[in-house]
Amino acid sequence: MEIDAFKKKLCRYCDSLLPESFLDLGSMPLANNLPRKEDLDKKEFECPLSLVHCPSCHLIQLSHAVPADLMFSHYLYVSSTTKTFREHFAAYAKDVRGRLKNEKDPLAVDIGSNDGLLLSCYQNEGMRIVGVDPAANLCKEANEKGLTTLNRYFDEESVNLILKDFGKAHVISGNNVFAHIDDIQSVIKNVDKLLDDQGFFVIEFPYLGTMLEELLFDMIYHEHVSYIGLHALSHFAGKFGFEIFDILPVASHGGSFRVFMQKKGASHPKAKIVDEFLTAEKNKGYLTAEAYQAFAGRVLKVKEDFMQLVSELKAAGKSISGYGAPAKASTIINFYGLTPDQVDYVVDDNPLKQNRYIPGAHIPIVPSSHLEAHPTDYVVIFAWNFAKEITQKIGHLRQKGVQFIIPLFNPRQAQSTESLQKAFEVAAS
Ligand SMILES: [Zn+2]
Repeated sequence: MEIDAFKKKLCRYCDSLLPESFLDLGSMPLANNLPRKEDLDKKEFECPLSLVHCPSCHLIQLSHAVPADLMFSHYLYVSSTTKTFREHFAAYAKDVRGRLKNEKDPLAVDIGSNDGLLLSCYQNEGMRIVGVDPAANLCKEANEKGLTTLNRYFDEESVNLILKDFGKAHVISGNNVFAHIDDIQSVIKNVDKLLDDQGFFVIEFPYLGTMLEELLFDMIYHEHVSYIGLHALSHFAGKFGFEIFDILPVASHGGSFRVFMQKKGASHPKAKIVDEFLTAEKNKGYLTAEAYQAFAGRVLKVKEDFMQLVSELKAAGKSISGYGAPAKASTIINFYGLTPDQVDYVVDDNPLKQNRYIPGAHIPIVPSSHLEAHPTDYVVIFAWNFAKEITQKIGHLRQKGVQFIIPLFNPRQAQSTESLQKAFEVAAS
């Protein structure tokens, strides 16, 4: 199929005509389709990865939409693999249950429930549960653990099945899925149908402001179609009869927001923080095209600085490996143009990713035992949001002279290799 067919003409939230993109990371493979050795000769699917600003509702979004079936049918990301996520969702479920204290037997529906981590936390809080997830492998895993999960997209048919067997939902959650769905207008319509009038819809997503302020362009990959700011979200919710009543900044993915929405006129009180954040966005210029032009310029500068460091290290005969192969690693590696000549291998602790390759760049993914046996002079921590866990795990390699760097922004001006390295290094803790 022609890639042009994937190009979006209209805004995903408000149907306004979209302008040209303000940041183009190039044509890229799918970040979560990690090829095996036998796939390396085949041509990988590629699609432009670039961002557009809707001048009307201010939603930042991808210029193209890759069909979901190409991306989500066998998802390798398993949320239970890290302790950070387990603690995160235990606290999440407790918070949700606390807000539903008047409900005797609440039903929780989780969209994109993955292997059922949040479902199990809801269950621990005494709630009835149903998950919905299109990835057959993860769905099977969840059901085997007794966590009822429908192997489907969250569509009208899913809603009808849940209504028939379980009734209306008191909470519907979607974590890191709301920003991942192209046809988000039908999702909110289906939420409206399934949600009890006094229930709420809670979503967690990487916040646009975090990406802009901290230059986290590695949040950009094909699955992540919307880069949500509160103005765009508030406008979108209002259009479908919902209102935002609370916002909780959370640390996952380096700065996400948990946003609570209810049907207009429902009884959850509106927190002051909602208007405060909306005002802050306006004051920071998030409703202007200039803010996004400036962001794009700074992203290109980070790439230039980091690649200068890499070429100087290679010229000095240093070896480099990477740690962590999440989607963001694929974005960084392919946007920077890192090659297997520069980065020998990337370590990942998820066995589903081992013995595969980083898409596009084809750098091999290996278990951490490989790093122990063949340490490199430098380790680039691509999964920088877990830098603390990772450096605790492999910090002893510093004694062998291994140095850790992060492939992202640091404001210090860098002139020499030494100062470039300083700009990207991870301090010993
Ligand atoms: Zn729009």
